[in-house]
Amino acid sequence: MSFFDALARGGAAPQAAPEAICSRKGCRAGATWSILWNNPRIHPPERRKIWLACDEHRGWLQDYLQQRAFWKDTVPFTVPADATPSPSDPEG
Ligand SMILES: [Zn+2]
Repeated sequence: MSFFDALARGGAAPQAAPEAICSRKGCRAGATWSILWNNPRIHPPERRKIWLACDEHRGWLQDYLQQRAFWKDTVPFTVPADATPSPSDPEG
């Protein structure tokens, strides 16, 4: 069960959209980057964990992961089309 399941069932989700907020502790800025990482001690090699980052903290989070050799990739964050906030849904 997930938020996306709730969306698929009819769009009457309790929240407008998942919060895409920077993963840096205390930061409430909107995410503009997805930082992909993997901890080989606990994750299978193909697994990718994702941290979201704002422009300001992208470097900080990336550096944090690189120091631990967890960092894999950083890509521009894009909101999935299905998760776009739509306060006035025409399908209503
Ligand atoms: Zn931030």
